[in-house]
Amino acid sequence: MLSRRKLLRNLSSLPLVGGLLGGHVASATPTLTAPLRRDYFKELGIRTFINAAGTYTSMTGSLMPEEVMESILYASNEFVTLDELQDKVGERIAAMVKSESATVTTGAASAITFGTAGVLAGMDEERVIQIPHLEGTGMKSEVIMQNAHKIGYAHAIRNTGAHIVYVDTQKELEEAINEKTAMLFFLNANNQQGEIKHKAWVEAGKKYGIPTMNDCAADVPPVENLWKYTQMGFDLVCFSGGKGIRGPQSAGLLLGRKDLIAAARMHAPPRGNTVGRSMKVNKEEILGMMVALETYLAKDHEAEWKMWEQQIAHIADLVKDIDGVTTETFVPDLANHVPTLKVAWNDKKIKHDNDSLHEAMRSGHPSIEVAGWGSNPEIQITTWMLIPGQERAVANRLREVLMSASV
Ligand SMILES: *Cc1c(COP(=O)(O)O)cnc(C)c1O
Repeated sequence: MLSRRKLLRNLSSLPLVGGLLGGHVASATPTLTAPLRRDYFKELGIRTFINAAGTYTSMTGSLMPEEVMESILYASNEFVTLDELQDKVGERIAAMVKSESATVTTGAASAITFGTAGVLAGMDEERVIQIPHLEGTGMKSEVIMQNAHKIGYAHAIRNTGAHIVYVDTQKELEEAINEKTAMLFFLNANNQQGEIKHKAWVEAGKKYGIPTMNDCAADVPPVENLWKYTQMGFDLVCFSGGKGIRGPQSAGLLLGRKDLIAAARMHAPPRGNTVGRSMKVNKEEILGMMVALETYLAKDHEAEWKMWEQQIAHIADLVKDIDGVTTETFVPDLANHVPTLKVAWNDKKIKHDNDSLHEAMRSGHPSIEVAGWGSNPEIQITTWMLIPGQERAVANRLREVLMSASV
């Protein structure tokens, strides 16, 4: 029999929902199961799986809570002006995360591109059109970052035509700064790895009058990171919308200085002759991003953390007594800051390598994805992307896979 909630959920997936969306369906319960009117993935022959890995783009990121889906459905029924929506949502988001200004982008990578383009062209319409061809335009053309912060996503900077200058030390940084330096880029996750830490990076920017940007894509949780780095003095801060915040996977946030966000918006649709035209966010995602942030901020973060710890402990408990298996729980300091379980095994006692264990987890019913793709016989598991309860299936299957390969 259908429960009242399920019934409402099924009804709300019909195209004509009008009246039902007036708050009747609104609920704080994050029910992540989609109403089964048509099993599209089954129709398409696409494997679905339990995500015990994390917020990976290849695995489609995260699942959006019901509140977000309601806002997306709501937005899909009305026309609005794109700029007005971005203005108002930007104001609301800025207030929520204590930032001077904010805008919704198509992800953290696009926030990097928009932010950099804004720094380069300012409010000059001619220059907006000239990007990514900077030579002879009078625009600056260099962005400095540390070697220890090297990351493929920095391609998002190069999309603007700027090229990247790498440094290792404070001395090299100061020597590298010149009249062509547009921006100082920082990768939050690698703060510890680089010689120049957060605060020194911000100070260098202030000393030379050059905007600083911090890529914080995967740095929620903890929730306070949403304001920590703008308050520390970074001029621009980028977040993924579809990782820990659980907004649309193709949305993100650019936070920071009002003048720089206004300049970034010069490259954003509806304007067409821009580097940002190919990074359009639709109204559904803009609203969905705002509601995801609201929902995330309103969460009981402590209770959620405890649940993750218990789920991790449950999985560890089921496998740690197997001969040849060792488990370890840790929390990365920065980026993907969630309880993480490392399960390692002696491959003389358990006949699996890294690949074959992934494959065994993948080929069960239900299919399960775990993380940790090194060459060692060890995998990693996080539980923040699980629908609560799925930790049992993960624990049981992992035990079964390890035991059945035990010699
Ligand atoms: C995920 C990630 C990105 C890209 O974020 P999107 O929201 O997918 O565009 C950029 N930088 C870092 C450090 C990331 O982890």
